[in-house]
Amino acid sequence: MSSWKPALLKMSPFGKEYDRDIAVESRTGGGRYTVNLYPYTCTCPDFIERRVKQPVGDLGRSCKHLREAVLSLDSDAFGDELTRVIFKSPHGPYERIWFAPDPQGEIFALCQRSDKPWLSLFVRSGAGQPYTRYGYHPIEKRWAYDSKPQDYEKILEMLRSVPD
Ligand SMILES: [Zn+2]
Repeated sequence: MSSWKPALLKMSPFGKEYDRDIAVESRTGGGRYTVNLYPYTCTCPDFIERRVKQPVGDLGRSCKHLREAVLSLDSDAFGDELTRVIFKSPHGPYERIWFAPDPQGEIFALCQRSDKPWLSLFVRSGAGQPYTRYGYHPIEKRWAYDSKPQDYEKILEMLRSVPD
């Protein structure tokens, strides 16, 4: 039995009070995109071509601009510590994100992008400790910088049961 759960925004769906256009500048130059948190949409190509297929509330629906708009809100209202860590990661934005309890019972995250072979794992090093990102290459079966989480063998075992 798999303990993986889809990673959802805590505050989702955003209510009608969030129904307004927010202009977000493109970091890569030129463009300016429009985000609306109520339908949870963006006008950028990444959103229109890929992320729109993810259900509202799923963290993987968040393009860079939606992440930025969400992070600009009162942080406690929309998500927990793990969501903020994932949204702030320079390795994202991720498309598939799953949460599961780690062998210590702390929730950790598995994040994937369709354009990169590396998986990102966000794991606490202990109770009350901050989250650390670990990169894992599932084909080459190796950890980035040879840095592994505690209980990595059990975590690798869990990776076999990630839903499609
Ligand atoms: Zn966007």
